[in-house]
Amino acid sequence: MRTWAECSEAALRSNIRELRKRLGGAALVGVVKANAYGHGDIWASKILVEEGAAYLSVATAEEAIALRGAGISAPILIFGITPPELAPELIGLGLTQTVADIETAEAYSRAAQKFDKTMKCHLKLDTGMGRLGFQSAGDARLASPEAVLALTLPGLEFEGVYTHFAMSGESGGETYTRGQLAKFNAIVPELERAAGIRFALRHAANSGAVAGYPEAILDMARPGIMLYGYPDNVPGLTLTPVMELKTRIAQIKRLAAGDSVSYGRRYTAARPGRAAVLPIGYADGLPRALSNNMCVLINGKPARQIGTICMDMCVVDLTDIPEARAGDTATVFGREKGFTAEELAARLGTISYELLCGVANRVPRICI
Ligand SMILES: *Cc1c(COP(=O)(O)O)cnc(C)c1O
Repeated sequence: MRTWAECSEAALRSNIRELRKRLGGAALVGVVKANAYGHGDIWASKILVEEGAAYLSVATAEEAIALRGAGISAPILIFGITPPELAPELIGLGLTQTVADIETAEAYSRAAQKFDKTMKCHLKLDTGMGRLGFQSAGDARLASPEAVLALTLPGLEFEGVYTHFAMSGESGGETYTRGQLAKFNAIVPELERAAGIRFALRHAANSGAVAGYPEAILDMARPGIMLYGYPDNVPGLTLTPVMELKTRIAQIKRLAAGDSVSYGRRYTAARPGRAAVLPIGYADGLPRALSNNMCVLINGKPARQIGTICMDMCVVDLTDIPEARAGDTATVFGREKGFTAEELAARLGTISYELLCGVANRVPRICI
């Protein structure tokens, strides 16, 4: 095989078990949006359900519909707003929709009534993320009248209520995160009183909150990145990166002093040596911005990437790995210290999430 993403079932299962231990009696939502952060959403969903996840969640209706098509019957929460035209599909497939504004809520309600059905919903409150959700009216801790109105619409069954943290994964985010949680905890009972309902599922915690804010776990928690093994330094949680992105040496080149490599001649050999052509490039999800600024692992040794990363290939310096041969495996990121997706992402000024979900569709996922 040319280039592949090896996904470890054992690592995923072990991460889920670690997280379930941390959650105690609270339910686990397995976040499988964006193809399970690049790992394969059907594969990850099946394992999550086997390991006791009570819920799955995705970003879009299309992602949810595809999981149902693959035979996944667990409850699925859609985080994003679905166009009301798709309401009959959501209802027919028993999907749970986020409700974050009154106009869309009214459209869902009309659609549900038209089919004489009920749509399962979770109300989303914006307590300070500044993204999707009902905003608080006037006094920051008062429930929005529009949210109350949404809760009383016919055809909608509000099973849950949730919010999302802006700073739970950031150092120095404690005051802000506690403020968001306090606001949520104040608004929810008010909504329940005003609308005369009771939410079965209150949830707020993403990975950052599961790591640092046990009081935010509530009835249910929604860790995403931690399922896939990042960050790997949370005290009391042993997480293992699930994906290793690997490729194989396609060709070995001689380099004379002064020889240049790849487009733009952005690397010139200072000494005679050897280089390897790797069949992985930015169309596989290896960002071009990492050119001349990363290493891969070959035979347990770091090989510096040299020259511009191309669409389908890149080149690495093999001078100090004389035993390497064409066909040998190179790990682009994986579990080895110094070679994790998180460390590679840091070189690029981004986060592990972006590298993981950037692994292209053409890269086969090999489940081991
Ligand atoms: C993506 C997402 C999560 C998971 O976030 P992680 O940082 O990966 O744990 C949880 N909740 C919502 C609403 C999300 O969009």
